[in-house]
Amino acid sequence: MSSLMPTYRPLPVAFQRGEGAYLYDSQNRRYLDGVSGIAVTNLGHTHPAVTEAVCEQMHTLTHTSNLYRIAPQEMLGTLLTSATGMEQVFFCNSGAEGNEAAIKLARRYGHERGIDIPHIIVLDAAFHGRTMGALAATGNQKIQQAFEPMLTGFVRAPQDDLAAIYAIAERNPNVVAVLLEPIQGEGGVRQLDTDYLMQLRALCDQNGWLLMFDEVQSGNGRCGALYAFQRLGVTPDVLVTAKGLGNGIPIGACMARGAAAKVLGPGDHGTTYGGNFIACSAAIAVINTLANERLWTRADPIREATLAGFDATLKYPDVVTEIRGLGLMIGIELSIPCDGIVATALEAGLLVNVTAGNTVRLLPPLIMSLADARILGSGVAEVVNTVYSNFEASP
Ligand code: PLP
Repeated sequence: MSSLMPTYRPLPVAFQRGEGAYLYDSQNRRYLDGVSGIAVTNLGHTHPAVTEAVCEQMHTLTHTSNLYRIAPQEMLGTLLTSATGMEQVFFCNSGAEGNEAAIKLARRYGHERGIDIPHIIVLDAAFHGRTMGALAATGNQKIQQAFEPMLTGFVRAPQDDLAAIYAIAERNPNVVAVLLEPIQGEGGVRQLDTDYLMQLRALCDQNGWLLMFDEVQSGNGRCGALYAFQRLGVTPDVLVTAKGLGNGIPIGACMARGAAAKVLGPGDHGTTYGGNFIACSAAIAVINTLANERLWTRADPIREATLAGFDATLKYPDVVTEIRGLGLMIGIELSIPCDGIVATALEAGLLVNVTAGNTVRLLPPLIMSLADARILGSGVAEVVNTVYSNFEASP
């Protein structure tokens, strides 16, 4: 029996090293990485700037505590605020923790306005993480049920349904914020309508609600801008990110501007590790590399090359119901169950992911060559061809 709690069912492969867009197993077999550790290694594996920054910091100082000033944390805070227009940052260790900070911030914001039982609007198919607050904000009852009772204080609305939000606004005076992923990841790679987001921005302004974007997955260059909101032209009051921020070193951030930046004070929130020397050194290297090389401009060309390879090789175009997402969040929804896709791809030396049951999800790194992107797309189409013909042949 394994000594690990079986919260995951890992595939039968253990990678030993990685470089750029490739991972290598114990037999030195090479795999093209179309998942990036679930949108984490946006700069590819073992990026030299991140490796150097972390190694150098390890030799200097690893950890003190947020009881003392931490220079790399202050530097990273300045980098992020000047790149996003946010004003203040709270650093933590993961996406879920970033959302917990946002939830606490919104609740305290409500209390300061005399709302004793603050409510946050969240969306269907949302995914915000597995801690109790983030789990309650998530829209998937399957992953909630075993852990009830859920934290209260969330009101749910369908995606892109403004009328539903207006209806909530009319009957619920306790709303203080809206929390959403501008491009939903785990829920099936669904980009929210830009007009909907703009109207939501206006509604938040009218009602004094905070607009909070969870860019844990869509951020850090993945969607064709440093943060997706910058491409969509709708600025949130609170911006949460993690994943690609550390390129594999755990770090999360909850950023805020305007009234939201004035909410949390000493003692309101905390973390032992959040924003420590190692994580912040890694993230400084990530943000500097993304910005200096404007790596987010590679997201669309890599997407196009991937989908061109896919189209050119797919034998049964009718099997694709929809292709969704933005930049390097690519969702290919199939009309057949996706069972077998991930394992068949693995045998072919490709790492891909499946989400929301029937959506093949590709999250390649921003440093993938266009030739490799085409190979990835074409390889995925071959896998779909195989799985589809097996499906058709099955009784
Ligand atoms: N929010 C979004 C949009 C995510 O995609 C995820 C993880 O997939 C999370 C939050 C949770 O992040 P973490 O696993 O780092 O806690």
